[in-house]
Amino acid sequence: MNPEKNLKNVLIILTGGTISMKAKGSMGVVPSSELADLLNEFPQLNSVANIDVMEYLNLPSPYITPQMMLELAKLIDLQIVDYDGVVITHGTDTLEETAFLCDLVLTTRKPVVFTAAMRSGSDIGLDGPRNIIGAVRVASHHDSTDKGVLVVMNDEIHTARDVVKFDTGKVDAFRSVDYGPLGSVDPDTIVYHRSTLFRESVWTDKLDTAVDLIKAVAGMDERHIRCSVETGAKAIVIEAFGRGNLPSSLVEEIRNALKKNILVVICSRCYTGRVLSEYGYEGGGKHLEDMGCLLAGDLKGAKARLKLMALFGKYNDPDVVRRFFLQGRD
Ligand code: ASP
Repeated sequence: MNPEKNLKNVLIILTGGTISMKAKGSMGVVPSSELADLLNEFPQLNSVANIDVMEYLNLPSPYITPQMMLELAKLIDLQIVDYDGVVITHGTDTLEETAFLCDLVLTTRKPVVFTAAMRSGSDIGLDGPRNIIGAVRVASHHDSTDKGVLVVMNDEIHTARDVVKFDTGKVDAFRSVDYGPLGSVDPDTIVYHRSTLFRESVWTDKLDTAVDLIKAVAGMDERHIRCSVETGAKAIVIEAFGRGNLPSSLVEEIRNALKKNILVVICSRCYTGRVLSEYGYEGGGKHLEDMGCLLAGDLKGAKARLKLMALFGKYNDPDVVRRFFLQGRD
């Protein structure tokens, strides 16, 4: 760090992803170690904040596990004491999960901002440098305090809870599909358009990863649920149809899971909206809730899974987890 008066102090933690990758001939796009050097010599960055760069990981984000997400959160908690904000670069594929888990477990009110790139260092029209500058500007801005973990991509600011990777390749791949972005990274300033009324936290230093996620498809049978039950799942998240409905062919195995005190949590495989206790036919959302399943509101399946891992890591008691999972929902 080269401290300049009045500039905020921001730590950038590198974890890998396309933003740290380059094309290497027939090998395709692979991790490279040049990002840290580039950032240290990035003049536009040093005029935005006093920067330190930590090369923590250099992994494609499909390799990132929930345990690694938790370790990263612990690192952020430790480091942020010495900084005004922290920016994390990450692969886009699992970014929304890492950002959400960090959002659940972090206690800091200081800005923590994830960013990434859709284009590698060898592509024309790089989005990585612009996203990093945007993320550092957001992390240095006074209005970013106490907003939970943020994600900055393509000049937009999203909350970790709302954001999803929506597109496989475009630079505007990240969207807050239900409610829209929280704000914008404009050339002259950072603008917040709205605030979030609903935030959730699980302050734990342990995860229990015995939580499965199953997606409903037309005509499916009970094998996947049975497999989860027989292999020790403590909770099963099911991405059901529409408002949270399933075929009746799954009901018996769900009942069996509930009898064994395994939590069954219903999300929707739709892109937006909440699940609801509406349909009373066998397997409908109301019927499932009456049986003892939990409805996850608007929380997406992958994030509900992480929240359950955090809750089981903290409480290890299905009844307590059930209570805390529903907190803020009724
Ligand atoms: N596969 C890459 C990753 O998630 C994609 C990316 O970073 O955009 O690491």
